[in-house]
Amino acid sequence: MAAPTVLVIGAGPAGLAAALSLRARGVAVTLLEAEEQGRVRPGSRALFVHRDSLRLLEAASPGLGTAIARYGLVWRVRRTLYRGRQLFERTYPEPLLGRMPAFTSLRQVDTERFLLQACTAAEVQIVWGSRVESVSASSEGVTVRAADGSRWSAAYVIGADGARSTARRATGIAVSGPPVDAFHVVIDVEADEGSPLLRERTFHYRHPGLGGRNVLLVPFTGGFQVDVQCRPDDSPADWGSEEGARRWLRLVVDDSDAGPIRWASTYRFLRVVADQFTDVHRRVLLIGEAAHLFPPFGARGMNSGFADAAVAASAVAEAFRAGTERERAALIGRFAEVRHGAALRNAAATERVLAHLMPGPGGRIRQAAAAVLNPVLPACGRWMESAPYGAAAGPADPSGMTRGRY
Ligand SMILES: Cc1cc2nc3c(=O)[nH]c(=O)nc-3n(C[C@H](O)[C@H](O)[C@H](O)COP(=O)(O)OP(=O)(O)OC[C@H]3O[C@@H](n4cnc5c(N)ncnc54)[C@H](O)[C@@H]3O)c2cc1C
Repeated sequence: MAAPTVLVIGAGPAGLAAALSLRARGVAVTLLEAEEQGRVRPGSRALFVHRDSLRLLEAASPGLGTAIARYGLVWRVRRTLYRGRQLFERTYPEPLLGRMPAFTSLRQVDTERFLLQACTAAEVQIVWGSRVESVSASSEGVTVRAADGSRWSAAYVIGADGARSTARRATGIAVSGPPVDAFHVVIDVEADEGSPLLRERTFHYRHPGLGGRNVLLVPFTGGFQVDVQCRPDDSPADWGSEEGARRWLRLVVDDSDAGPIRWASTYRFLRVVADQFTDVHRRVLLIGEAAHLFPPFGARGMNSGFADAAVAASAVAEAFRAGTERERAALIGRFAEVRHGAALRNAAATERVLAHLMPGPGGRIRQAAAAVLNPVLPACGRWMESAPYGAAAGPADPSGMTRGRY
């Protein structure tokens, strides 16, 4: 058997979490990251770290889940409006002291900062500025070459190198998912601790100030994110620029509650899943956005990346203890099967979200009827509240390898 060394490609949240999970199992790991140390990743991006993820991170590095939970914001009010009229409001109790909250909300760059600190403490070797260009696997192990001329050998490679994954392309694994026309604009707005906008998550169906576009406001530590569902014929340059955002933001929130805009970007509602999560030799494991892309509604992107990381690390650590190549391959194959299944369930959940956010004529009538009936049938408001995020309970993991919903 090849030397028990694991290479992780990519220091995003999935790669950092995989490195920590491997170290927690006593496996030596080297992480190769294309960008330079100290890079500043733009924007708030993935905000929610759910309780399942906090627990996985706590298990990988004691204190990490708790530190992220403490830094993040736990807002307690959810509101849903339809054409400016409130349909649903619920206030949740304070999280119990000493228990992980149901979720916490912080900028992805802050989550990554905590992960990076934990990796340093766990003696993960991180090689910055090392862009992997080729990954070549055999039944003996994997050889990786980087743009700086360095060459690495490992028993296993975990490809956590994001949506344009070199690990995935080099192993000939294809991705599938439907094309998407419409786009969303997402902006970050700074806000003082006292701002009422930091106390609640609000979803507006057909916001009257924005010509009936759907608008989501989500607070995080230090500010809030606004997501506007644009129309196919809207101009991304108009809606997605900071100047454009300044024009429409004042139609959504009071100027006095909001500080400066810190980031503006656009994205498409992609649902893409890799056809396989491992190569034919069972030596390269794909996790995070290297394996799947989900839209942000439902917070499945980063959270499912954490679940992938934990299952991949467990499979690799067990493979090192296995007696035969056949057993080793079966363990990695099981990782791929379980996480591919989870990704397909996540993709199906986002498909249902999309049908709700971009309804056909029948769906539009159902939503309008729910808004009218809500005063006498509050279940209508509850449906309108939960539908934009996918199934409330989320897709279960029948394998039991992660207890979580992602
Ligand atoms: C503009 C933008 C906005 C987003 N907004 C939201 C949002 O509002 N809500 C939400 O939930 N999610 C959002 N996301 C998605 C979220 O950021 C991802 O789910 C998350 O980053 C995935 O983590 P990851 O570790 O799988 O991949 P990434 O975070 O992409 O990390 C991959 C890492 O691999 C490195 N890398 C890439 N190629 C190589 C290579 N060849 N060699 C070595 N290293 C390499 C990259 O530099 C990077 O550090 C957004 C993403 C983007 C890009």
